[in-house]
Amino acid sequence: MVRVSLGTAILLDLKEGNLKVKPTTAYIMVGENCQNNCSFCTQARDSTSKADLLGRVTWPEYQFKDVLEALKDAEKDDLRRICLQCLNDPIHLTGLPSMVQRLHDASELPISVSIGPLGVDRSNDLKRSGADRVGIALDGASPTIFDAIKGKDVGNPHTWGSTWRALDDAVSVFGKDNVSTHIIVGMGETDRDVFDTMVKARDTGITVSLFSYTPMKGTSFSGEPPSIERYRALQLMRCSIMGSGSTEGFEFSASGKLISIDIDRIMQEGSSKDAFRTRGCPDCNRPYYNERPRGPMYNYPYSVEDEERKKGIEEAVRYIDGPTSTL
Ligand code: SF4
Repeated sequence: MVRVSLGTAILLDLKEGNLKVKPTTAYIMVGENCQNNCSFCTQARDSTSKADLLGRVTWPEYQFKDVLEALKDAEKDDLRRICLQCLNDPIHLTGLPSMVQRLHDASELPISVSIGPLGVDRSNDLKRSGADRVGIALDGASPTIFDAIKGKDVGNPHTWGSTWRALDDAVSVFGKDNVSTHIIVGMGETDRDVFDTMVKARDTGITVSLFSYTPMKGTSFSGEPPSIERYRALQLMRCSIMGSGSTEGFEFSASGKLISIDIDRIMQEGSSKDAFRTRGCPDCNRPYYNERPRGPMYNYPYSVEDEERKKGIEEAVRYIDGPTSTL
């Protein structure tokens, strides 16, 4: 049995329903009873959330063979990628390469695997089975935040250093720009932390995407989602660092808040068109992972119109021009 995101289930005709925005990637959850205990996560060991939740999204359960059949029929539809989201469940992880192989045999869609730190050998196994990309989440944007939300403070085995080593190993197997990580904004990090992490990732050939922290019942982390103004400013920063690679024009206050950014320069770059769109692997749009359909839309699951882009820039400017101590 596997779980697939509700949007994926509807798109694959495994479930009836209407989609406001269609996923462009088929999201499949691998494993159950994650042995890790990340403080923000509905699937964490100590979480009391419902078992079919990951983020805001519900994941109904199906026979893997039925999902394979549905994917065969769906190829000509809107899907452009398959993403396996793996819990730290040793039993299911043992069978992961053969699962990737079966998906690869059944579908021509490229396959990403989102997984905890793994070494060169397991990366090679996944690549040989047919995965073209791997994602290893940092989630926190500094060693301290990492320890607090998904490291030793919550009883997890990994460290900031071991996760970066795993990212480096993955790059050595999959190649530059074929490895992703992400940062959750709103876990207590400074803007400077996000900047430094993105620059380090860029220098290593790793793609960084952003999520906004989303409070979920049953998880141990308590906090508020970031303001949309701050998130927009960080999306523009991401766009510059991951797009052109430029780190020019960014200034920070003594407390690490972003206080200057060259928006005109960023908006002249080709990649700025999609600055506020969901980022990650190619063709991943993750509709409503963090967002209620009524908004605010932290990550748009589609290319935004000029009006939404203009509004996003105004929000970023409000943040940058705001109090220097506000994060
Ligand atoms: S490893 Fe992934 S699924 Fe498991 S608790 Fe951490 S974030 Fe959740």
